[in-house]
Amino acid sequence: MVPTHPDVVIVGGGVIGGGIAEWLRCDSRLRVGVVEQEYGARVTTSASRAAAGGINPHLYDEGHGALGPMAQRSRDLYPGWIERLSAVWGRPIELRPSGLLCLAVEEKEHGRLVDEVLPLLRERGVAAEALGADEARGREPLLGPAVRGGLWLPDDLAVEPMRIMAALESVLGADDGITWVRDRAEEIRADGDGVQIVLRSGRVLRSDRVVVAAGHLSHELVKDFIDWRDDSFGPVKGQILEVAVPAGGGLRTQCDALLPDDEETHIVRATPYAEGRVAVGVTHDEGDASPGTSSRADETILQNLRRILPAVADWEVIGARAGIRPGTSDGLPILGYVDPHRRVLAATGHNGLGITLAPRTAQLAAKLLLDLPLTDDDRADLRLSRPERLAASRAR
Ligand SMILES: Cc1cc2nc3c(=O)[nH]c(=O)nc-3n(C[C@H](O)[C@H](O)[C@H](O)COP(=O)(O)OP(=O)(O)OC[C@H]3O[C@@H](n4cnc5c(N)ncnc54)[C@H](O)[C@@H]3O)c2cc1C
Repeated sequence: MVPTHPDVVIVGGGVIGGGIAEWLRCDSRLRVGVVEQEYGARVTTSASRAAAGGINPHLYDEGHGALGPMAQRSRDLYPGWIERLSAVWGRPIELRPSGLLCLAVEEKEHGRLVDEVLPLLRERGVAAEALGADEARGREPLLGPAVRGGLWLPDDLAVEPMRIMAALESVLGADDGITWVRDRAEEIRADGDGVQIVLRSGRVLRSDRVVVAAGHLSHELVKDFIDWRDDSFGPVKGQILEVAVPAGGGLRTQCDALLPDDEETHIVRATPYAEGRVAVGVTHDEGDASPGTSSRADETILQNLRRILPAVADWEVIGARAGIRPGTSDGLPILGYVDPHRRVLAATGHNGLGITLAPRTAQLAAKLLLDLPLTDDDRADLRLSRPERLAASRAR
């Protein structure tokens, strides 16, 4: 039963919405309602349920460096967050200190990594090391002969996102102060007195504040408050596969490579999990919000993987999943109030880094919702994530 008036309603039960609900309950006794349209569904578009699980604070931040400090703070929150989640859940969640190999098969890309990216990372105090082909193979013996070397980032972590999602569902489900609402939020109304969330079933939830953590669908719910420019927020579909590790060997490190071809740049990722499985991918289709996996994407993934990790590309494929990332044009997340009464908090736009950024987003959102004092770091991360930077105009 939904309390007649939860203090906060969160729309979206992905890693961002679920993470905020969990953090909020840790820091307060507020009553929280989580509205999730795909609860228990077999096919979902949830990015969190499709993600690989690399915790890579500096992976896509090489160029502008703006996101690095926020992402690093999130990475540093991970061990404590996972320990807390698994203690309450009563089951382990493995956080692997897998490091990350950023690899190149072409001389030009190798040069970019070593001559351009490495100095930038070092300047920002990020632990990183240049590796030649043999040194890279020393770290990961499964690398194929085409790999010319790359960078080693020893502090990156890997986690299985489905474990986090299972833990969040169970922990939130067992909490008396949290209610899951299996419905779709159609509209949000807000004024000085509070918020109304109109559900597809016709019910109307009333609360003091609402968090829009609806992933790639968030714009639908906030567009009455803030109108993001057409090109500034949109879906980016991604697919990955899982392969089974054969007896006697596994992948030691997380691997990532950019493979340019004539038409586009492909991303290769391999993320080792516990219990003999590796996630391999990924596809990156801007503007595509269609649900479900495709065999064409499977082929692309394995074809690209073969150039970096040929042995892994021959391992048995045991699963495929796809999700829709919430993309922003500047690659930065969105976190902040979008209405003048500070009742509608947007928490979205995490692109390909939402798993990495989840605990920091949850911590900051909880501080905003609880009106807690902000540190200089908090203010810096919120400035970076301010929703109005993408706005064409304020709608009302
Ligand atoms: C293939 C792939 C690989 C990835 N790998 C990584 C990685 O290695 N590392 C990393 O950091 N990130 C990775 N990401 C990115 C990461 O998964 C996303 O940034 C993150 O999961 C976004 O979380 P979210 O909660 O905002 O969105 P979602 O997980 O999509 O959750 C949003 C939820 O809101 C619900 N919803 C939407 N609208 C409504 C509504 N109106 N009413 C009710 N409910 C609604 C949806 O059903 C959904 O469950 C990857 C993503 C993909 C697709």
